[in-house]
Amino acid sequence: MKQTRLRRVSLRRAGLSRAQRERLDDLARAVVMIRAGATLVPVETRRGWAWWGRCERCMRERFLQWCHVHSQGSTPALKWEPDNAFAGCAECHVFGRNAWHRDVSSAMTWLESKRGIDAVERLALRKRTVRKADPSAWRLWLEAEVKRTAPWAWERLFSEGSTA
Ligand SMILES: [Zn+2]
Repeated sequence: MKQTRLRRVSLRRAGLSRAQRERLDDLARAVVMIRAGATLVPVETRRGWAWWGRCERCMRERFLQWCHVHSQGSTPALKWEPDNAFAGCAECHVFGRNAWHRDVSSAMTWLESKRGIDAVERLALRKRTVRKADPSAWRLWLEAEVKRTAPWAWERLFSEGSTA
């Protein structure tokens, strides 16, 4: 509840429309998924697609969620930072016994073993020092990143003729 309110306030401050915010979220999510080797699959939802691939935590093939290391509520400045996220299944993210949101300290231990302690500490430093995200700077960088690393995802989700 509290987290939702914080999020809403920070997004309003960023002055983004709903569509702009969704596009930024989709771009940031896409970069994380592409890095994890995920693919797009058609599904019967409003969006019409979802990310599928190997969960970075349990390595099982699943639908994947955009999981934040430092939460969007506590650290809105790092919401779109791909280094602040990973691709995880619902169980590893929210529901399972060792889910990220249930046991943050074991989750952090996992992240350190995966990315190295330096990367985790750099991220923690950014959490303490970065005050505000610049949405237009993020949009430019994320768009370039998707185009460069996964033109197929760009075509499908973000280009002029895409359905998303
Ligand atoms: Zn998993």
